[in-house]
Order: sequence, then C-alpha cells, then structure tokens
Amino acid sequence: MILLNPGPVTLTERVRSALTAADLCHREVEFADLQDTIRTRLRAVYDLDERWAAVVLSGSGTAAVEAMISSLPGADARLLIIENGVYGERMTRMAHIHGIAHQTLRFEWGEHIDSDRLAAQLTDGDFTHVAVVHHETTTGRLNDLAAIGEVCAMRNVQMLIDGVSSFGAEAIDFDRLPVAAVAATANKCLHGAPGAAFVLVRRVALSDATPCSLYLDLAGYCEKQDARSTPFTPAIPAFHALAEALAEHEDEGGWQARRANYRRLAGQVADGFSALGIQAVLDADESSCVLRAYALPVGIDYDALHDHLKSQGFVIYAGQGGLAASIFRISTMGAIDTVDIERLITAVSSIVHNRL
Ligand SMILES: *Cc1c(COP(=O)(O)O)cnc(C)c1O
Repeated sequence: MILLNPGPVTLTERVRSALTAADLCHREVEFADLQDTIRTRLRAVYDLDERWAAVVLSGSGTAAVEAMISSLPGADARLLIIENGVYGERMTRMAHIHGIAHQTLRFEWGEHIDSDRLAAQLTDGDFTHVAVVHHETTTGRLNDLAAIGEVCAMRNVQMLIDGVSSFGAEAIDFDRLPVAAVAATANKCLHGAPGAAFVLVRRVALSDATPCSLYLDLAGYCEKQDARSTPFTPAIPAFHALAEALAEHEDEGGWQARRANYRRLAGQVADGFSALGIQAVLDADESSCVLRAYALPVGIDYDALHDHLKSQGFVIYAGQGGLAASIFRISTMGAIDTVDIERLITAVSSIVHNRL
C-alpha cells in the first residue's frame, strides 16, 4: 500500500527493519546512546549549534506541540495564536485547556496570513509569544515564517512553531527567526515510524518554562535527556526507526534534497490531475512541497474516489471539517517515486472517465 496521507508515511525497508532491533531497557547505556544519537542528528538537520536542544518525546506530533505550548510560555506570558486551519485551532484549544493567557488572530482556512493584521494585533496586546503552524496541513498552505518572524522580531515576541508537517523538508531559518521552539514528529518528512515526536528548543527559552502537565513537561524531559536519562518508558522501536530515518535523511542529501524530491512528485501529481480536469486549491507557490489539496472532480464524492484508489493500492486523505465535501489531499512524503505517481494518475483517470 502506498500512503499518500500526511503521515504516517510509507517506510523504506531500511527504516522498517530498524523497528525490529533487539529488545532494550531504557535504563541501559544502549538506550542512552540511541537517544543521544537521535538528539544530535535532529539538531544536525538544520545545522543547529549547542544553543539548541532536541527533546525527544513518545507520542504523536500533537504531544510535541502540546509540550511546547504548555511548557514554554511561562507564568507571565501572553500568547497570540495565529489560526488558518485545523492545527492553529488545535493550539488554541491547548492554550485554553492549560490556562495560558492567550488571544487568537483568525484567518479563513487556507487564507494567507496578513502581516499587517498581525502587526496591529501585536501592537494592541502585551504579547510575549506568537504560535503559528508552518505548513497548515488542512489546506497545504505554507505559511510565510520569514514575514511573520520579521513582525515578531520588531516587537520582541518569540515564536512557537508547529513544524510537524514541514520539519525536514522545508526551509526553517532558525538563525534569523525569533523562534523559541519548533515542534515536529518522526513520521512525516523525516520518514520515521509513528510513536516518537520532538521539540527543537532554544536552551535559554527553557529557563522560563513552567510545567502545566506532568507528562508533557518539556524542561523536565530536557534535563533528564541531558543527563542521558529519560523520565518514563519511551517508545523504543519508534526511537530506533527515527535514528535510522535521520541517518537516511542525511545520506539522501538533507532537507534540501527532500524538498526537491517532494516538489518534483507534487508537480507530477498536479500536472497529471490538471490534464484530467482536477484543479489544485492553492497555487503551487502558496503550497508546501509536502501536500496539496485538490477540488473533488464533479460527480465523484470522496468515498468513491478513496475506495477506488485503495483498491488500486493507494491511500489518499479527505478534507477536514467544512472542506470534507469539496476537497481531497495528496501528500508526497515517504518512500514513493515517479512510477507510483504514474500509477496513481492512471487510477484516477479510470474513475474520472467512467463517471463522466
Ligand atoms: C500531523 C500534524 C500534527 C499532529 O498530528 P498527530 O496526529 O498528532 O501526529 C500537528 N500539526 C500539523 C501541522 C500536522 O500536519
């Protein structure tokens, strides 16, 4: 089965076989070495120096985002959360649940984040942090971190970034952005297995951190991991797979090579679909390299398209919420290639031609 959903992804054999590594106790030196390897390789993805820490968690991407949002703002913080899709809205729910003083800056799903509105709202409130999703997987829109970062830097506001579906394949300028942390996961652009997630955090940002949760206390994890330990039982097979996936990521040329590859495949999908009359929701230059949303072809509902493609060996992804009836999504992450996309287009072509 070829997974075209935005994570988990189709694994390479190299990563899949790491899942069956020998049984390991997390209190033994072999686990400490594995964890150190992952932490070092995670920083290496964007060439981050010692001012940054990679904190590895067991859980899905949401666990990493929630650890970041609940731990980092600190007791006196005021958080502005930018929403233009499901994942921005999810961060607002986290802030609400954890009792963090916050406001939202709301855009329509898929809408461009207007820097002037952001600047105006930051001027009105006494904000210390802005939370934003880099790639809003809801629609495939890649939010412009540089433009948002510029506004934040002028007002001395730190950024908390949900990079779950961009880390490892899109540019993230850790040096120039006023970023405190980026949260992400093993099983999207890094091509690891589900179960491990992580936060790349500026070490100075950890000094203000206040835990809002026992299990998602980011500073607590960091302290233990710096001491080559871990507070709880980790998802060890997923850690093995992440270490291997990071080695593979580097061998294949890092995030730049991954972006080039995703772009090539996404372009192939878009061109093939366009020839069948299926149009992308956003322009290519507004979309991430990772995923694009397409309008469902007239007369074909999502379930029919999904079930037909599944019978041909492909899993696609529905639109969320109000978009469920009008769009579908194709991610080009994972171990897939040009030949797979050719087969996908042939399979879509057969349903389009049968229905029209
Ligand atoms: C996938 C995703 C998440 C987290 O999803 P999980 O199911 O918890 O792994 C968060 N944010 C974005 C932008 C995502 O694409």
